This record gives sequence, structure tokens and C-alpha cells, in this order.
Amino acid sequence: MSDARETAYIALGSNLNDPLRMVRAGFNALAQLPNTELIARSLLMRSAPVGYADQPDFVNAVAAIRTALQPRALLDALLAIERAHGREREFPNAPRTLDLDILVYGERLIDEPGLTIPHPRLHQRAFVLVPLAQLAPGLIVPGMGPIRKLLAGIDTKCVTPIADAAL
Ligand code: ADP
Ligand code: MG
Repeated sequence: MSDARETAYIALGSNLNDPLRMVRAGFNALAQLPNTELIARSLLMRSAPVGYADQPDFVNAVAAIRTALQPRALLDALLAIERAHGREREFPNAPRTLDLDILVYGERLIDEPGLTIPHPRLHQRAFVLVPLAQLAPGLIVPGMGPIRKLLAGIDTKCVTPIADAAL
């Protein structure tokens, strides 16, 4: 296997079973992936649920990794981490113990069954754009444009950094 590494951005989200602990566990699990280095973590942020409102607030964050895992292998590894943390998919936008999404993988544009990169709803989600912009303010999202422009197009007041979430 080639060890050429690409930078990828991963969204972490949780609103069940002590979400702060879950998101920190998610960062730790990313750091343990093979042929992968966790290079940066955003602040942890609190956000109101989207879609299905009658559920607890979320804790969201974004990680930057350098990885030699190809996108499909990376997705499989993320789904395994979700399962290891008790994720059950009951219905779309349901509460979840840990959700891990590939937001961006290098310059790649991928649209396959079960894997779309950049993540297709990235530009609509304040809880993704706010921590992503905090981590990578100069990022140009492939096929979507500068993160600053994407942020300017949405309402971000539902997302707030967690002041006392020292890592
Ligand atoms: P969401 O994260 O949108 O709330 P889910 O986590 O339940 O929804 O969606 C899971 C499915 O989404 C995964 O089984 C995976 O195949 C698919 N998927 C497509 N593109 C991506 C991506 N970029 N990152 C993560 N999952 C993705
Ligand atoms: Mg997901």
C-alpha cells in the first residue's frame, strides 16, 4: 500500500450517552486509525437539533486528519467506530451516540452509492461549517467554494462553542 497521505476533514456529532465524552472518544478513535494522523481538532460546539426537534442538543466538532486510507476504506473505518460506540440508525435525523461523516477528502469529488464527497449537505449545516471554518478558515471545499462564502450563506446562531470544554 502506498503511504501517500491526503488531508481529510471529518465531522463528529453526538447527542446521546454523554455527548462531550462521545465526541472526545471519537477524536481518540480517529487518532488510532491505521496509517492516519490526527492533526487538528476544532473546538467542541453545542447545536440545536435539525430536522427532528424533539431530542437533546448535539455536541459537534471537526477533525483534520492526514491519512493513507482511501475514501471507501476510511468510510468503513468510521462506520466501525460508530458501531463500536453503540450507534443505531432508527430513522433519518434520529438521536445518535456518535456520527462520523467525511466532509472533504483532499481535492476528491466522489459520487458513488453510499459515498458522496464532499458531504452533500455540508453547505447547509451550520453545525458542520462553524467548526470546519474554525479549523480551516482558508479551505476551498472542492466543487462548493471557499468555506467563508458557504458560511456567509447560512444562519449560525444555533451553534455555540462550549466554553468549558477543555480538551
Ligand atoms: P447523516 O450522517 O447524514 O445524518 P447517516 O450517518 O445515518 O446520516 O448516513 C449514513 C450513510 O451515509 C452511511 O452508511 C454512508 O454510506 C453514507 N454516506 C454517504 N456519503 C458519506 C460521507 N461523505 N460520510 C459519511 N457517510 C456517508
Ligand atoms: Mg453520518
